[in-house]
Amino acid sequence: MGSRFDITVVAQDSLEGAGYIDLAVAEITRIEKNISSWDPTSQTSAINANAGVVATKVDQELFDLIKRAIGISKLTDGAFDITYASMDKIWKFDGSMKEMPSQDQIASSVVKVGYRHIRLQEADRSVFLENKGMKIGFGAIGKGYAADKAKELLIRKGVTAGIINASGDMNTWGLQPNGEEWKVAITNPLNKNKVFAVLPIKQGAVVTSGNYEKYVTFNGKRYSHIIDPRTGYPATGIISATIFAPSAELADALATSVFVMGIEAGLDRINQMGGIECLIIDDQGEIYTSKNIEIQKT
Ligand code: ADP
Ligand code: MG
Repeated sequence: MGSRFDITVVAQDSLEGAGYIDLAVAEITRIEKNISSWDPTSQTSAINANAGVVATKVDQELFDLIKRAIGISKLTDGAFDITYASMDKIWKFDGSMKEMPSQDQIASSVVKVGYRHIRLQEADRSVFLENKGMKIGFGAIGKGYAADKAKELLIRKGVTAGIINASGDMNTWGLQPNGEEWKVAITNPLNKNKVFAVLPIKQGAVVTSGNYEKYVTFNGKRYSHIIDPRTGYPATGIISATIFAPSAELADALATSVFVMGIEAGLDRINQMGGIECLIIDDQGEIYTSKNIEIQKT
Protein backbone atom coordinates (compact mmCIF):
# COMPACT_ATOMS: atom_id res chain seq x y z
CA MET A 1 0.00 0.00 0.00
CA GLY A 2 3.00 2.18 -0.38
CA SER A 3 3.44 1.87 3.34
CA ARG A 4 5.40 -0.35 5.61
CA PHE A 5 3.63 -2.83 7.88
CA ASP A 6 5.34 -4.23 10.98
CA ILE A 7 3.59 -7.15 12.60
CA THR A 8 4.11 -8.35 16.16
CA VAL A 9 2.44 -11.48 17.53
CA VAL A 10 2.55 -13.21 20.87
CA ALA A 11 3.25 -16.91 20.15
CA GLN A 12 4.70 -20.06 21.73
CA ASP A 13 7.93 -19.87 19.72
CA SER A 14 9.45 -18.04 16.78
CA LEU A 15 8.41 -20.69 14.26
CA GLU A 16 4.77 -20.38 15.22
CA GLY A 17 5.12 -16.58 15.27
CA ALA A 18 6.64 -16.51 11.77
CA GLY A 19 3.75 -18.62 10.44
CA TYR A 20 1.22 -16.14 11.81
CA ILE A 21 3.11 -13.21 10.35
CA ASP A 22 3.11 -14.87 6.90
CA LEU A 23 -0.67 -15.19 7.14
CA ALA A 24 -1.06 -11.52 8.00
CA VAL A 25 1.23 -10.44 5.15
CA ALA A 26 -0.75 -12.56 2.67
CA GLU A 27 -4.00 -10.98 3.84
CA ILE A 28 -2.67 -7.43 3.53
CA THR A 29 -1.31 -8.21 0.04
CA ARG A 30 -4.67 -9.64 -1.02
CA ILE A 31 -6.51 -6.51 0.10
CA GLU A 32 -4.01 -4.21 -1.54
CA LYS A 33 -4.55 -5.98 -4.86
CA ASN A 34 -8.27 -5.57 -4.56
CA ILE A 35 -8.52 -1.93 -3.55
CA SER A 36 -5.47 -0.30 -5.11
CA SER A 37 -6.27 2.37 -7.67
CA TRP A 38 -2.71 2.10 -8.97
CA ASP A 39 -3.04 -1.52 -10.01
CA PRO A 40 -4.83 -1.38 -13.40
CA THR A 41 -6.25 -4.87 -12.87
CA SER A 42 -7.98 -4.10 -9.55
CA GLN A 43 -11.74 -3.79 -9.19
CA THR A 44 -11.22 -0.22 -8.03
CA SER A 45 -9.48 0.62 -11.29
CA ALA A 46 -12.36 -0.95 -13.21
CA ILE A 47 -14.84 1.29 -11.35
CA ASN A 48 -12.72 4.35 -12.12
CA ALA A 49 -12.20 3.45 -15.77
CA ASN A 50 -15.97 3.15 -16.21
CA ALA A 51 -16.88 6.43 -14.52
CA GLY A 52 -19.72 8.12 -16.37
CA VAL A 53 -20.05 5.07 -18.61
CA VAL A 54 -21.30 1.94 -16.92
CA ALA A 55 -21.71 0.35 -13.48
CA THR A 56 -19.10 -2.20 -12.38
CA LYS A 57 -19.99 -5.36 -10.48
CA VAL A 58 -17.66 -5.89 -7.53
CA ASP A 59 -16.99 -8.32 -4.66
CA GLN A 60 -19.07 -7.96 -1.52
CA GLU A 61 -15.94 -6.92 0.36
CA LEU A 62 -15.24 -3.90 -1.84
CA PHE A 63 -18.93 -3.02 -2.04
CA ASP A 64 -19.15 -2.94 1.75
CA LEU A 65 -15.97 -0.91 2.10
CA ILE A 66 -17.36 1.74 -0.27
CA LYS A 67 -20.63 1.73 1.64
CA ARG A 68 -18.81 2.34 4.91
CA ALA A 69 -16.69 5.08 3.30
CA ILE A 70 -19.87 6.86 2.20
CA GLY A 71 -21.15 6.51 5.77
CA ILE A 72 -18.06 8.32 7.04
CA SER A 73 -18.59 11.07 4.45
CA LYS A 74 -22.06 11.61 5.86
CA LEU A 75 -20.74 11.58 9.41
CA THR A 76 -18.10 14.21 8.61
CA ASP A 77 -20.18 16.51 6.41
CA GLY A 78 -18.17 15.46 3.39
CA ALA A 79 -14.72 16.16 4.87
CA PHE A 80 -13.90 12.54 4.18
CA ASP A 81 -14.58 11.61 0.58
CA ILE A 82 -13.07 8.75 -1.41
CA THR A 83 -13.92 10.63 -4.63
CA TYR A 84 -11.24 13.18 -3.65
CA ALA A 85 -9.13 10.95 -5.92
CA SER A 86 -9.84 12.86 -9.11
CA MET A 87 -7.76 15.65 -7.55
CA ASP A 88 -4.78 13.29 -7.93
CA LYS A 89 -4.19 14.72 -11.37
CA ILE A 90 -3.81 18.20 -9.93
CA TRP A 91 -2.03 17.68 -6.62
CA LYS A 92 0.88 15.27 -6.81
CA PHE A 93 2.96 14.52 -3.77
CA ASP A 94 5.64 12.38 -5.37
CA GLY A 95 8.00 15.26 -6.11
CA SER A 96 6.80 15.72 -9.69
CA MET A 97 4.89 18.96 -9.07
CA LYS A 98 6.83 22.00 -10.15
CA GLU A 99 4.30 24.75 -9.68
CA MET A 100 1.13 25.55 -7.85
CA PRO A 101 -1.95 24.41 -9.80
CA SER A 102 -4.06 27.26 -11.16
CA GLN A 103 -7.44 28.20 -9.71
CA ASP A 104 -9.04 27.09 -12.96
CA GLN A 105 -7.41 23.69 -12.86
CA ILE A 106 -8.58 23.18 -9.30
CA ALA A 107 -12.08 24.41 -10.05
CA SER A 108 -12.51 22.10 -13.04
CA SER A 109 -11.25 19.12 -11.03
CA VAL A 110 -13.19 19.68 -7.83
CA VAL A 111 -16.51 19.47 -9.71
CA LYS A 112 -15.75 15.77 -10.20
CA VAL A 113 -15.51 15.26 -6.43
CA GLY A 114 -18.59 14.26 -4.48
CA TYR A 115 -19.55 11.08 -2.68
CA ARG A 116 -23.20 11.72 -3.53
CA HIS A 117 -22.36 10.78 -7.10
CA ILE A 118 -21.34 7.25 -6.17
CA ARG A 119 -24.28 5.02 -7.02
CA LEU A 120 -24.40 1.68 -5.21
CA GLN A 121 -26.81 -0.96 -6.41
CA GLU A 122 -27.33 -3.72 -3.84
CA ALA A 123 -29.24 -5.97 -6.25
CA ASP A 124 -26.30 -6.68 -8.55
CA ARG A 125 -23.61 -5.39 -6.17
CA SER A 126 -22.49 -2.78 -8.64
CA VAL A 127 -20.79 0.59 -8.26
CA PHE A 128 -21.28 3.47 -10.65
CA LEU A 129 -19.51 6.82 -10.57
CA GLU A 130 -21.98 9.12 -12.23
CA ASN A 131 -19.62 11.61 -13.81
CA LYS A 132 -16.84 11.12 -16.35
CA GLY A 133 -13.44 11.74 -14.80
CA MET A 134 -14.67 10.80 -11.31
CA LYS A 135 -12.34 8.53 -9.38
CA ILE A 136 -12.28 6.82 -6.01
CA GLY A 137 -9.22 6.03 -3.90
CA PHE A 138 -8.75 4.41 -0.50
CA GLY A 139 -5.61 6.28 0.57
CA ALA A 140 -7.23 7.44 3.80
CA ILE A 141 -8.99 4.25 4.86
CA GLY A 142 -7.32 1.29 3.11
CA LYS A 143 -4.39 0.96 5.46
CA GLY A 144 -6.70 0.83 8.46
CA TYR A 145 -9.01 -1.61 6.74
CA ALA A 146 -6.13 -3.93 5.87
CA ALA A 147 -4.83 -3.76 9.44
CA ASP A 148 -8.28 -4.66 10.80
CA LYS A 149 -8.58 -7.61 8.43
CA ALA A 150 -5.10 -8.92 9.29
CA LYS A 151 -5.90 -8.61 12.99
CA GLU A 152 -9.25 -10.36 12.53
CA LEU A 153 -7.58 -13.22 10.69
CA LEU A 154 -4.94 -13.71 13.39
CA ILE A 155 -7.54 -13.67 16.14
CA ARG A 156 -9.48 -16.30 14.22
CA LYS A 157 -6.30 -18.42 14.07
CA GLY A 158 -6.01 -18.23 17.83
CA VAL A 159 -3.39 -15.52 18.28
CA THR A 160 -4.12 -14.00 21.67
CA ALA A 161 -2.23 -10.72 21.37
CA GLY A 162 -0.36 -8.64 18.83
CA ILE A 163 0.20 -5.39 17.01
CA ILE A 164 -0.29 -4.49 13.38
CA ASN A 165 1.77 -1.36 12.86
CA ALA A 166 1.14 0.31 9.52
CA SER A 167 3.76 3.06 9.30
CA GLY A 168 3.01 4.20 12.83
CA ASP A 169 -0.72 3.50 12.76
CA MET A 170 -1.17 0.94 15.53
CA ASN A 171 -3.83 -1.72 15.75
CA THR A 172 -3.52 -3.93 18.82
CA TRP A 173 -5.32 -6.70 20.63
CA GLY A 174 -4.80 -8.65 23.84
CA LEU A 175 -2.14 -7.78 26.39
CA GLN A 176 1.64 -7.71 26.39
CA PRO A 177 3.22 -10.97 27.63
CA ASN A 178 3.90 -9.23 30.98
CA GLY A 179 0.17 -8.64 31.37
CA GLU A 180 0.29 -4.91 30.69
CA GLU A 181 -1.72 -3.03 28.11
CA TRP A 182 -0.06 -2.02 24.87
CA LYS A 183 0.94 1.62 24.98
CA VAL A 184 1.69 4.18 22.32
CA ALA A 185 4.10 7.08 22.60
CA ILE A 186 2.92 10.30 20.98
CA THR A 187 5.59 12.65 19.71
CA ASN A 188 5.24 16.23 18.64
CA PRO A 189 6.04 16.37 14.91
CA LEU A 190 7.70 19.74 15.50
CA ASN A 191 10.12 18.05 17.88
CA LYS A 192 10.28 14.38 17.00
CA ASN A 193 12.79 13.38 19.65
CA LYS A 194 10.55 14.40 22.47
CA VAL A 195 7.77 12.07 23.50
CA PHE A 196 5.07 14.08 25.24
CA ALA A 197 2.56 11.42 26.07
CA VAL A 198 2.47 7.66 26.53
CA LEU A 199 -1.10 6.44 26.34
CA PRO A 200 -2.59 2.97 26.66
CA ILE A 201 -4.27 1.74 23.48
CA LYS A 202 -7.45 0.68 25.23
CA GLN A 203 -9.61 1.14 22.21
CA GLY A 204 -7.67 -1.10 19.84
CA ALA A 205 -6.35 1.30 17.25
CA VAL A 206 -4.52 4.60 17.15
CA VAL A 207 -3.93 6.33 13.84
CA THR A 208 -2.27 9.63 12.97
CA SER A 209 -2.68 11.75 9.88
CA GLY A 210 0.00 14.34 9.45
CA ASN A 211 1.34 16.74 6.90
CA TYR A 212 4.96 16.28 7.87
CA GLU A 213 5.70 13.42 5.52
CA LYS A 214 3.81 13.95 2.26
CA TYR A 215 3.55 17.57 1.19
CA VAL A 216 4.71 20.11 -1.37
CA THR A 217 5.93 23.62 -0.69
CA PHE A 218 5.12 26.65 -2.85
CA ASN A 219 6.19 30.16 -1.89
CA GLY A 220 7.17 28.96 1.55
CA LYS A 221 3.73 27.50 2.25
CA ARG A 222 3.24 23.83 2.95
CA TYR A 223 0.46 21.97 1.13
CA SER A 224 -0.48 18.62 2.66
CA HIS A 225 -1.61 15.50 0.84
CA ILE A 226 -4.99 15.71 2.52
CA ILE A 227 -7.42 17.56 0.30
CA ASP A 228 -10.54 19.38 1.37
CA PRO A 229 -13.03 17.76 -1.01
CA ARG A 230 -15.24 20.81 -0.88
CA THR A 231 -12.62 23.26 -2.16
CA GLY A 232 -10.06 21.08 -3.93
CA TYR A 233 -7.30 22.72 -1.89
CA PRO A 234 -5.13 20.96 0.69
CA ALA A 235 -6.36 21.27 4.25
CA THR A 236 -4.43 23.74 6.40
CA GLY A 237 -4.00 24.62 10.05
CA ILE A 238 -3.42 21.19 11.57
CA ILE A 239 -0.12 19.36 11.38
CA SER A 240 -1.24 16.15 12.98
CA ALA A 241 -4.49 14.51 14.01
CA THR A 242 -4.43 11.32 16.07
CA ILE A 243 -7.54 9.21 16.59
CA PHE A 244 -8.13 6.42 19.13
CA ALA A 245 -10.95 4.13 18.00
CA PRO A 246 -12.06 0.51 18.29
CA SER A 247 -11.14 -0.20 14.66
CA ALA A 248 -8.18 0.96 12.60
CA GLU A 249 -10.42 1.60 9.62
CA LEU A 250 -12.54 4.11 11.52
CA ALA A 251 -9.49 5.66 13.19
CA ASP A 252 -7.77 6.03 9.81
CA ALA A 253 -10.76 7.65 8.14
CA LEU A 254 -11.51 9.94 11.08
CA ALA A 255 -7.89 11.12 11.37
CA THR A 256 -8.07 12.30 7.77
CA SER A 257 -11.52 13.81 8.39
CA VAL A 258 -10.46 15.82 11.43
CA PHE A 259 -7.52 17.14 9.45
CA VAL A 260 -9.99 18.56 6.95
CA MET A 261 -12.68 19.63 9.43
CA GLY A 262 -10.29 21.67 11.50
CA ILE A 263 -9.81 21.85 15.26
CA GLU A 264 -13.17 23.10 16.43
CA ALA A 265 -15.49 21.20 14.12
CA GLY A 266 -13.28 18.11 14.33
CA LEU A 267 -13.19 17.96 18.15
CA ASP A 268 -16.86 18.72 18.31
CA ARG A 269 -17.77 15.80 16.09
CA ILE A 270 -15.38 13.40 17.87
CA ASN A 271 -16.79 14.42 21.27
CA GLN A 272 -20.23 13.39 20.04
CA MET A 273 -19.03 9.89 19.19
CA GLY A 274 -18.80 7.28 21.94
CA GLY A 275 -15.53 5.36 22.37
CA ILE A 276 -13.49 7.62 20.13
CA GLU A 277 -10.84 10.09 21.20
CA CYS A 278 -8.70 12.57 19.36
CA LEU A 279 -5.49 14.55 19.80
CA ILE A 280 -4.66 17.42 17.46
CA ILE A 281 -1.49 19.47 17.03
CA ASP A 282 -1.87 22.68 15.07
CA ASP A 283 0.73 24.45 12.97
CA GLN A 284 1.72 26.57 15.97
CA GLY A 285 2.56 23.45 17.99
CA GLU A 286 -0.55 23.84 20.18
CA ILE A 287 -2.11 20.60 21.44
CA TYR A 288 -5.86 20.02 21.60
CA THR A 289 -7.61 16.90 22.91
CA SER A 290 -11.09 15.48 22.99
CA LYS A 291 -12.82 15.44 26.34
CA ASN A 292 -11.62 12.09 27.72
CA ILE A 293 -7.90 12.40 27.05
CA GLU A 294 -5.75 13.67 29.88
CA ILE A 295 -2.20 14.55 28.99
CA GLN A 296 0.41 16.87 30.29
CA LYS A 297 0.73 19.56 27.68
CA THR A 298 4.41 20.45 27.70
P1 ADP B 1 -1.39 8.80 5.74
O1 ADP B 1 -0.83 8.89 4.34
O2 ADP B 1 -0.53 9.47 6.75
O3 ADP B 1 -1.87 7.45 6.13
P2 ADP B 1 -4.16 9.58 5.68
O4 ADP B 1 -4.67 8.34 6.26
O5 ADP B 1 -4.70 10.84 6.22
O6 ADP B 1 -2.63 9.76 5.75
O7 ADP B 1 -4.49 9.49 4.15
C1 ADP B 1 -4.15 10.51 3.26
C2 ADP B 1 -4.46 10.03 1.88
O8 ADP B 1 -5.87 9.95 1.72
C3 ADP B 1 -3.99 10.97 0.81
O9 ADP B 1 -2.67 10.67 0.40
C4 ADP B 1 -4.99 10.69 -0.28
O10 ADP B 1 -4.65 9.50 -0.95
C5 ADP B 1 -6.28 10.43 0.47
N1 ADP B 1 -7.10 11.62 0.74
C6 ADP B 1 -6.72 12.93 0.70
N2 ADP B 1 -7.71 13.74 1.07
C7 ADP B 1 -8.79 12.95 1.35
C8 ADP B 1 -10.13 13.21 1.80
N3 ADP B 1 -10.55 14.43 2.04
N4 ADP B 1 -10.94 12.14 1.98
C9 ADP B 1 -10.52 10.87 1.74
N5 ADP B 1 -9.28 10.58 1.31
C10 ADP B 1 -8.40 11.59 1.14
MG1 MG C 1 -6.53 8.31 7.26
